[in-house]
Amino acid sequence: MTFETAFTMDSSSIKFGPGVTREVGYDMKQLGSRRVMVVTDPNLANSETVEITLEALRAEGIDAVLFDRVRVEPTDVSFKEAIEFATEGQFDGYVAVGGGSSMDTAKAANLYATYPADFLAYVNPPIGQGRPAPGRLKPLIAIPTTAGTGSETTGVAIFDLLEMHAKTGIAHRALRPVMGIVDPNNTRQMPKMVAACSGLDVLSHALESLTALPFQQRPAPEHPSLRPAYQGANPVSDIWAAQAIRLVSQNIVRAIEVPTDEAARGQMLLAATFAGIGFGNAGVHLPHGMSYPVSGMVRDFKPEGYVTDHPIIPHGMSVILNAPAVFRFTAPANPERHLYAAGLMGVNTMNARPEEAGELLAGAIIDLMRQTGMPNGLKAVGFGPEDVEQLVAGTLPQHRVTKLSPRPAGPEELRQLFLNSMTLW
Ligand SMILES: [Zn+2]
Repeated sequence: MTFETAFTMDSSSIKFGPGVTREVGYDMKQLGSRRVMVVTDPNLANSETVEITLEALRAEGIDAVLFDRVRVEPTDVSFKEAIEFATEGQFDGYVAVGGGSSMDTAKAANLYATYPADFLAYVNPPIGQGRPAPGRLKPLIAIPTTAGTGSETTGVAIFDLLEMHAKTGIAHRALRPVMGIVDPNNTRQMPKMVAACSGLDVLSHALESLTALPFQQRPAPEHPSLRPAYQGANPVSDIWAAQAIRLVSQNIVRAIEVPTDEAARGQMLLAATFAGIGFGNAGVHLPHGMSYPVSGMVRDFKPEGYVTDHPIIPHGMSVILNAPAVFRFTAPANPERHLYAAGLMGVNTMNARPEEAGELLAGAIIDLMRQTGMPNGLKAVGFGPEDVEQLVAGTLPQHRVTKLSPRPAGPEELRQLFLNSMTLW
């Protein structure tokens, strides 16, 4: 096997600032689109952000059609509904308004409406065939309304494949939005629990990309088109990830407790974008890989502050619940990086020994979880040791991310990690 020798640095163009949503009409027109599908979820259908978006597009003479049936935590069924709408609508551009769910749905709608194929054709292997997008897609502009997913900067669309009770996704550079319009005015209405979960998701994106398997330890692709978007830790993604860890650690508690603090909220949104640029190129690993079955196997948990008709374990919550156990486990593979991450979170690591790295980082994460009202482990969201086999079975197919763990994790290791995540403090 030959190892990888190259890495790439891809990102959407980013426009950041209070009020920039009003520029979406101008930006879409510059991209040459005349008929645009605006993709959002039912909770946001009547929001100011959607209203401003539609107005701005129409003011530039663009035919803007609203699709407001995105499912929060989307599924193959909800993706297909959007794909059908997109195919029938003959759009030449897309605007996504919302959290990761809206952005990911817009990416899928754009892909399958532009290059129709069997649904599993583009889905990540081993669940799907992982076929690369055949070419460029129609322009997509993403307008995030939560400071979390960083989906505005990535070529990844995540969904729940209902028959398998597991999250999987579609990942290809071509899915990446052309532009992310990142406007702090759009996160004013975020409920506290949404802000907490999305903020901790940002933290984990950054921690995972910083500690991921380095790109030069991955096998070289047989052809440039097969180089994955998630390439492993690399010198450019490290910079974005490190800054994101710092920004989240300094601002998350304040942004949740005082939602009127424009500065703290703006910094969290910036952190989400920074982390997105980092993990969009480096990737994430075990906390995300393990989170997919946790979210997919939810029974009756409904977090406060989430408006939803079905039980959900929000993405960020399912990620962070596994994070402390994971970083204790991965630290021996690269103690310096784990210590560096703990230091970025504000831990004094001056006299720390390498063997303390995992504990210091896990402790810093648990501190933030307690300050932001997270449940105390998987038990608190409805799981017990009897669920571990099924959680492991749901994690094993997440190759795209689990193989980026700096320390290999097979069924036995995953079993232990889930058991260690049942109760955290
Ligand atoms: Zn995430």
